[in-house]
Amino acid sequence: MSAAPGSNAAGAFQRVAVVGAGTMGNGIAQTFASAGAEVVLIDVVEPALKKGLATIEKSLAKFAERGKLSAADAQSIFARVKPSTTLQDAKSAELVVEAVVERLEVKRKVFAELDALTPAATILATNTSSISITAIAASTQRADRVIGMHFMNPVPLMALVEIIRGQETSDATTQRVVAASKAIGKTPVEASDYPGFVSNRVLMPMLNEAVFCLMEGVATKEAIDTVMRLGMNHPMGPLALADLIGLDVCLDILEVLHSGLGDDKYRPCPLLRRMVAAGRLGKKAGKGFYDYA
Ligand code: NAD
Repeated sequence: MSAAPGSNAAGAFQRVAVVGAGTMGNGIAQTFASAGAEVVLIDVVEPALKKGLATIEKSLAKFAERGKLSAADAQSIFARVKPSTTLQDAKSAELVVEAVVERLEVKRKVFAELDALTPAATILATNTSSISITAIAASTQRADRVIGMHFMNPVPLMALVEIIRGQETSDATTQRVVAASKAIGKTPVEASDYPGFVSNRVLMPMLNEAVFCLMEGVATKEAIDTVMRLGMNHPMGPLALADLIGLDVCLDILEVLHSGLGDDKYRPCPLLRRMVAAGRLGKKAGKGFYDYA
């Protein structure tokens, strides 16, 4: 677990809203609640919200089984996460972390609504993997209080938060978010606002190349993943990692890299497009390159 449960250590942020309860949103909510914050977890799709809550409950139970948390702490952390299907419930948050789909139009709409309903001092953070923080911030009247807070999957286990300043992000906002990241047990690292920042600029071309290898019959999926695990000491093979991230998310990020950097080396592999078109979105859909049924 990242921080002592119930330690009220979420930096200066005691009331946090997380928008989007999918792969990332539920982990972000769990992490802030584990550090003592009161969290509202918002998703417009009720089944997605239920699934997100169930994932948090399961994850906390696993921490308790392994002796990293007491059963009572797991329960009190879970009780600090309040589910909601309306953005209105973000209105008293000091920090909002957005984790909806990787589409600029959707994020801009969410940020414009958050800007209208939250107090002026509230910091609006986005967990985007690749989209310009500056472009998202431009949909608000508070670009100085908009920032990228890019968590890694699975959030409760991964140490890194990539912190991305937009063009107008203030020093005060950055300092507060860096401090809050440390207070929830993460290691913040700053990157500039260019497509994919550091993490996905480096990671996604490798995942995409693995899909090209599969498409071209260079090797089987198991062989490709084994080469990278045993040969490069990666904890997971690239195709299994793409399944974990979500193939739709990988495709969206590659599109942003391709259009934002204008270089064909970022073109998404046609097999990746075909997998997404078929609904084989990876682990969250029960099937991707591998089956998870
Ligand atoms: P996801 O598809 O698992 O979840 C997105 C959730 O957002 C869905 O439950 C959806 O119902 C909800 N949603 C959509 N529009 C909404 C709205 N207007 N209001 C509230 N909820 C809404 O996606 P994810 O993998 O969790 O990705 C979320 C963000 O995190 C993306 O920007 C992605 O690039 C980024 N990210 C993903 C990963 C990863 O490994 N999957 C890692 C780091 C960052």
